[in-house]
Amino acid sequence: MTTGYVWNTRYGWADTGSGSLFPSDATTGLQPIGHHLAHPDTKRRFHELIAVSGLLDRLHTIRAVAATEEDILRVHTPQHLARIMEESRQPKGGDAGDGTSPFGRGGYEIAALSAGGAIQLVDQVVAGRVDNGYALVNPPGHHATRATGMGFCVFNNVSIAAAYAKDVLGLERVAVVDWDVHHGNGTQDIWYSDPTVLTISIHQHLCFPPGSGYREERGTGAGEGYSINIPLPPGSGDAAYLQVMDQLVIPALREFRPDLILVASGFDASMMDPLARQMVTSAGFARLTRRMLDIAADLCDGRIAFVQEGGYSPHYVPFCGLAVIRELLGEPFEPDPYTPIVSTQGGDVLLDHEAAAIDAAEPLLGAVSGESVSG
Ligand code: ZN
Repeated sequence: MTTGYVWNTRYGWADTGSGSLFPSDATTGLQPIGHHLAHPDTKRRFHELIAVSGLLDRLHTIRAVAATEEDILRVHTPQHLARIMEESRQPKGGDAGDGTSPFGRGGYEIAALSAGGAIQLVDQVVAGRVDNGYALVNPPGHHATRATGMGFCVFNNVSIAAAYAKDVLGLERVAVVDWDVHHGNGTQDIWYSDPTVLTISIHQHLCFPPGSGYREERGTGAGEGYSINIPLPPGSGDAAYLQVMDQLVIPALREFRPDLILVASGFDASMMDPLARQMVTSAGFARLTRRMLDIAADLCDGRIAFVQEGGYSPHYVPFCGLAVIRELLGEPFEPDPYTPIVSTQGGDVLLDHEAAAIDAAEPLLGAVSGESVSG
């Protein structure tokens, strides 16, 4: 297997400020702290583990090039782009849009480089120069809507890559499978009325954004049925996520028949994440990856690109990422230092209330069919 890989030193320079989750605020007791929960060190540690493990030498390194304004404007409003550029020029930077997504001066350039990394990977995957690939980009993207950034996301990287695949590379149908633990609300927003991009979000129910990601959010107009939301109860682990794959995601992809699959790959559904309450292990992420590679081989000549989203455990994210990249390279899962602890906490058993939540989403599959797009 030839696996493409994107990392850029500047991804590790995305400045999330001195707050924790919210900006520091002396009037409410929010003390400044060295590591914001979305501090880029988590992603940098992931990259460094890939390097130290020796895998980096076997990956086909792809140089990130900044997305152009034209690339960004395929999915975002001119007002959003202009505001990010303007705030990025301020001495202390700005915020992506919700007041809790800070970036430093030059944050626009890093965000454009993040979106560009996703584009470059898709370019190489579709051209067949690599068999699959992982864009370890930062900042993340899936919360950014057409009109605003939010949830640490500035531009919607995976959507910018999907739009590029359609408009520039000429693909007809792109599927986005988002296993970040939070709802992929921005990706959903961007493609909500478009039947050529199927968005599937697997997330912890009502975790973030507030009041978002219900099963009833199914798309609108010609896009009705092409937004699939699979909310899971807190505590869902490997068994629940694999059941979601087998019972919902893979059948939906078979119906849709994409030309390219993009995985919005967050690692915040992991056992050790501070911003959610799920129980997926590195072994679970490896198995999810294998499922995605197999279905991509069946449906679209293996064309699949993974694009980094969230993940806030600086301890565990690197090992989850390592497990995914080993799988992309065709290597068997290797237990990591956390495996003896995380594998014994019950996440490998599908509980009745988790199965019920998955069953409840099954009717959503009915409306997905590639036939209706071309017909
Ligand atoms: Zn997330």
